[in-house]
Amino acid sequence: MDKITVKDKIFKPYISDKELQESITLIAEKINHDYSGKSPIFIGVLNGSFMFMSDLLKKINLQCTVSFVKLASYEGTATTGKVSELIGLNEDLEGQDIILVEDIVDTGNTLIKLYEILEEKKVNSIKIASLLFKPDAYKKSHPIDYIGKKIPNAFVLGYGLDYDGWGRNLSSIYVLDEK
Ligand code: 5GP
Repeated sequence: MDKITVKDKIFKPYISDKELQESITLIAEKINHDYSGKSPIFIGVLNGSFMFMSDLLKKINLQCTVSFVKLASYEGTATTGKVSELIGLNEDLEGQDIILVEDIVDTGNTLIKLYEILEEKKVNSIKIASLLFKPDAYKKSHPIDYIGKKIPNAFVLGYGLDYDGWGRNLSSIYVLDEK
């Protein structure tokens, strides 16, 4: 695969479509096993999680419901640390088993904020599934229950992840070419 230009930056191929699907299959198998006999609600964090949610849910064989929330915390290629309000959650979550689905966990600020908001809703349980995880950037102690791939501290793009709104439609993951 070739390098691509998105806006003013060059990105090189990083994780192939095939590799992504293999990771997603492994996550789905674990969730299918762990939630056997249960009916969880999958809550995807927009915008970045839409592709992962779609491919993950096709591999889930549980009776489940699906919802999306939105909480923006990122601008350009650096985490701002700011987290805005949660929008889009209309379901009554009391007593529910929640699987929060993230595209990527970087510092963990977004995730912990979401977690705290959901915890207040008298839910039965909350687990976190993230396609990508940057362990070296993670500042929280809360475990990430299901991880597709651990990656180093680099800016990635594609498969739902954007650079200033662009590149979400790419079917595989690219990484910023620093050279
Ligand atoms: P955190 O709050 O964990 O620092 O960041 C979470 C959000 O930042 C993710 O949901 C994602 O939108 C964005 N983000 C973090 N790292 C990257 C990255 O390498 N590439 C892109 N495109 N977005 C990222």
